[in-house]
Amino acid sequence: MAGSPSKTPRFLLKRKTKSIDSDSAKAKRNLFTTPEPDIEDYGHFFASKNKKVADTFLEKYRSKRGLFVTDVSKTEWCQKQMEFSLFFDDEECNNNNNDDKECFSFVYEGRASGTGKNNTHDQAMKAGIDRHVELRDEVLKPVRVEVKSREDFMALKLVNFINGVNQLLFEGLTRELPIVSFAFEQGIWMVGSIDEVRMHSTDHKSILVETKTRISDTVPSESQKRNGRIQLMCYKYLWDNLVSNPFPLREFYDYFDLESQRALCEDLKKACCCSGFNAVTLNEVVVCYQTACKMMPRAHDDELVLRYESQRDKSLVLDEDKFAYNYGWLKSEISKCLQFWLQQREASFVAVEDQWKCAYCYFTSLCPAYPHDTTDDDDDE
Ligand code: SF4
Repeated sequence: MAGSPSKTPRFLLKRKTKSIDSDSAKAKRNLFTTPEPDIEDYGHFFASKNKKVADTFLEKYRSKRGLFVTDVSKTEWCQKQMEFSLFFDDEECNNNNNDDKECFSFVYEGRASGTGKNNTHDQAMKAGIDRHVELRDEVLKPVRVEVKSREDFMALKLVNFINGVNQLLFEGLTRELPIVSFAFEQGIWMVGSIDEVRMHSTDHKSILVETKTRISDTVPSESQKRNGRIQLMCYKYLWDNLVSNPFPLREFYDYFDLESQRALCEDLKKACCCSGFNAVTLNEVVVCYQTACKMMPRAHDDELVLRYESQRDKSLVLDEDKFAYNYGWLKSEISKCLQFWLQQREASFVAVEDQWKCAYCYFTSLCPAYPHDTTDDDDDE
């Protein structure tokens, strides 16, 4: 193979040695976690600091946090629903410094602020989360870390990313990979968590995979696939930005309002040691993050994979959608999304042919586009 060990960073060498010495097929990387449940959602660290009047949704709700990739896909699903969720979920989240579960509720469970008739949907969401935890635990070993500052929280993400890239390079697969990347063309920071990354067997490129679970054993509709494709293409876009472009360091610290020389908490210093490198400040972790980005193989252009699994029978793959990256299309989708986030246009409703989506929406009672003269009381049938 064309590897050049002399150029390999120390933290990668350590992982390599480990994986050769140990039972590599069963090796798990550590996933450092906090009591805060979601990798995207660290808003409460930021909510209390430097509050100022914001002009746009992006500034108001995603300031110092970055736009989540799931924000893009949710906005594509229905802009009005996204807007309601900002008003009714994130407002509460941003004002609540204690209960992280509240912040998390929109991300995975939704909030019954509308009809209150979405029990089945909630159960399906819960089953989806449980399945993702199961998949995660096949290759990762969660290790609890007590973070003390916003700098710690960012460092935690970056350390998990470094470990994930390491695992990908030496074991060929990683899961739940957090990503923090600058979307150069749009000039915004975006964050997310990639379900799975596999190394292609022949061409040394990485394959990004997103797993969706379905309550019924049916193939997804075109709208659902389209939504999943946008999500995956966003990850690919961010991934390639990290591989190909210099990491904009000053913008990173400015935007996320982080102190580069802030000392890491003890737990995180230990986490860095466990990961094969020493770091005592955020900046030292960022330097390793930059190195890891340059070690990453580009994401495959022709093979992005959306897997749809049955919740009833996890071994049943209902559909595997392999598709090619289409940057032109993605760019126009992100641009429509940003028009909403920058409040350059009113939030749109679902198209007529997509009105079935409303049946799964928590905000029907508030939505002017929803036909309120129907017999809601009989809907439990
Ligand atoms: S009811 Fe339909 S149109 Fe209205 S917010 Fe929900 S999904 Fe969108």
